[in-house]
Amino acid sequence: MLQRKNVKFVRDKKFRLRASVALVYKNKILNLFKTNVRESINIEINFDNIIELLLHFNGKKTVKEIAKEFEIELETLEKLVVFLNKKFVLIEEDYKYDDELIRNKYRIINFLEDYCYKTSEVFKKLQEVKNKRILIIGLGAVGTWIADMVARNGIEKFILVDDDKVELSNLHRQHLYFEDDIGKQKTECVKNRLLEINDNIEVITINKKIDEEFFNDFTFDCDLVVNCADYPSVDYTTKIVGKYCMKHNIPHIVGGGYNLHLTLIGQTIIPYKTACYECFNLRLQEINKPFVNGVKKLHRKTRKIGSFAPLSTIAASLSALDIFKILYGLEEYIVNSSKRIEFSILEKDFKIMKIDKNKKCKVCSYNGN
Ligand SMILES: [Zn+2]
Repeated sequence: MLQRKNVKFVRDKKFRLRASVALVYKNKILNLFKTNVRESINIEINFDNIIELLLHFNGKKTVKEIAKEFEIELETLEKLVVFLNKKFVLIEEDYKYDDELIRNKYRIINFLEDYCYKTSEVFKKLQEVKNKRILIIGLGAVGTWIADMVARNGIEKFILVDDDKVELSNLHRQHLYFEDDIGKQKTECVKNRLLEINDNIEVITINKKIDEEFFNDFTFDCDLVVNCADYPSVDYTTKIVGKYCMKHNIPHIVGGGYNLHLTLIGQTIIPYKTACYECFNLRLQEINKPFVNGVKKLHRKTRKIGSFAPLSTIAASLSALDIFKILYGLEEYIVNSSKRIEFSILEKDFKIMKIDKNKKCKVCSYNGN
């Protein structure tokens, strides 16, 4: 009975054919090709005007009006519409974006529509994201690019942490800094650049290095933490950030690392749902065990091999994609969780190692001891 009621309601709704869908009709088969995901849907339909009919779904006419215009049975059309809506071919137009929103955020809207069944869901996400706050720790080769990409995509509340001042040697790889910034606090420079992108942005700056004491001095009201601090090492800062975020149940991302020919894409951690920093540790210790036992290690004073902007931006880009999804409420679509991903310039390839949530992990497993 409930289903019947829903089907009845569909006739009064308006739908729009998504711009990314290409249509072909041949030998009674309708082929819908979703160009954005390279996915094909074939439906057997005995109706020669089907393409013209689908083009009438432009968000202005109700299903009932279209059925009447093409003189087809309303219930049959309703069933087709429900199916195509579920397959992300038609989107329900239950909210009309105003002209200003379309002008300013057309491409973000397009991206979000790929994950939504209704335009009202897209609008809600655009409103909700304005109250989401991101904490970025470390404004170097990865952190600056992330801050820029996130600011351009609708996020308006930032907390920026870094104790460094801009140096000449930063300019070849660290986005948002220029010669005039040399000697200035990095947090202030990034804050000014973000305000140039969007003057609605609110930024809190903290000129401190991250260490064991850091989270004793500050508590943060934020929805996501991104750790791009690599001093004294990414492992050290990740553990500190991971501990705090697991305790407060905050999604967090390791911004990634690089050493000229290799980019390590940082992992995205959703507390208690995906592998946590300690699950990664346990797995990597296991993998490295045969190489560690009985081996003398050459200790180097510094492991800083250097970074290269095209590689650090790969790490930043992939992290920004997950940041976008988490802050827009699309957590189920994140891509960098429970995986260790490396990109090698020399091999021109991504290597992906799956790292599952460890049942014995003391940090994230309820069964841990
Ligand atoms: Zn864990």
